Amino acid sequence: MVLPHEPEFKQAYDELVSALEDSTLFSEHPEYKKVIPVVSVPERIIQFRVSWENDKGDIEVNNGFRVQFNSALGPYKGGLRFHPSVNLSILKFLGFEQIFKNALTGLSIGGGKGGCDFNPKNRSDAEIRRFCVAFMRQLARYIGQDTDVPAGDIGVGGREVGFLFGAYKQMQNNWSGILTGKGLSWGGSLIRPEATGYGVVYYVEKMIEKATKGQESFKGKRVAISGSGNVAQYAALKVIELGGTVVSLSDSKGSIISQNGITPLQVEEITAAKVKFRTLEQIIQESASAFSGSNQVKYIAGARPWTHVGQVDVALPSATQNEVSGEEAKALVEAGCKYIAEGSNMGSTKEAIDVFEANRSANVWYAPGKAANCGGVAVSGLEMAQNSQRVTWTAEEVDTKLKDIMYTCFENCYTTATKYSAGKDASGLPSLLKGANIAGFIKVADAMFDHGDVF
Ligand code: GLU
Repeated sequence: MVLPHEPEFKQAYDELVSALEDSTLFSEHPEYKKVIPVVSVPERIIQFRVSWENDKGDIEVNNGFRVQFNSALGPYKGGLRFHPSVNLSILKFLGFEQIFKNALTGLSIGGGKGGCDFNPKNRSDAEIRRFCVAFMRQLARYIGQDTDVPAGDIGVGGREVGFLFGAYKQMQNNWSGILTGKGLSWGGSLIRPEATGYGVVYYVEKMIEKATKGQESFKGKRVAISGSGNVAQYAALKVIELGGTVVSLSDSKGSIISQNGITPLQVEEITAAKVKFRTLEQIIQESASAFSGSNQVKYIAGARPWTHVGQVDVALPSATQNEVSGEEAKALVEAGCKYIAEGSNMGSTKEAIDVFEANRSANVWYAPGKAANCGGVAVSGLEMAQNSQRVTWTAEEVDTKLKDIMYTCFENCYTTATKYSAGKDASGLPSLLKGANIAGFIKVADAMFDHGDVF
């Protein structure tokens, strides 16, 4: 059931349902229709008060949540978001996306999401630690390595996962893999920090290869990226490694544009400064040597990059939801952009998706976040596997598995779109929007039938 005051959740729900309806799935298998009203209601929602003490000794109160959306495929799995915008509509949309994304990884993980309307920006380390302890005091009783395994998302990185894990361990007298994204010396997986960004690029590698019949790759491609957090940073580094030029990055205050290409050193400066909550504008001033001479970048205050990048081949929205409008999508298509893949969850508005899909016959190809960014949660699944076995795989092993998961996910989206589009689609590239939604849905729905959740 979609409630009228949940616009983000409604958007995610409509995207899934219209993709299914606009295919031959229901005419071939009408029983799948019965799954929709069941799968769209979370199995459980936990809401709790988080009261904690700030540095002045004052009490602050926030609203904490965990949406345990669907456990058909495995323990609930999905990140925690700490951001002032967090509310139930946003967490339900993220949890709903996560169900099908996790299914597309091929691993045994269900879908969930949680978070808090706490704003970590410009808080001291001590405040963040006290907040995380207070948050975990409420959450601890609901999670477990075989029940629900949270991780990071916007506002929750390695530092926060560490504080949350330490609090859980003390409270429960139990050391187990109850969170992923852990530190490398205490149960974390190599490549987890890089996984979402690398994974998006691996997915797009396959899009380029398929669309050009193996004639082209990232080499020489101009790539617009939004965001400058974990996903954007590692997507940028991988694009550069594969011979592409990264022409933009952004944060909530503005964008940096570099026609010559953002350098790995600049990305490193951004990575180091972002943990200290520096904005891109401050970083380019404070790290002047990295951003001068031929490495100069243009800063545009208050703007997203899409209409400022000039000619581009690839766009990777990697900041947050609804960060590409219909008008911006048109500008990207006019600028020659052929491949759009979301590092963020629901990065494109419905209007933007309509523009991309309408241009599929002109070889514009759009990949939704639930497929393109599943590499992060996939390596979280691999972290859980390593924890259960009490082993640590090498970076090469994890990277090889990540690549394999992303390539398989792409093939799954491609073949599923082709299979269920007969007579429904104009010629040209098959819709990865439909392929991702149908493939993820079928896997979850089949398990729900087997469990007797739907009959
Ligand atoms: N927050 C990430 C996502 O949106 C990662 C979730 C996880 O690793 O559990 O997929």
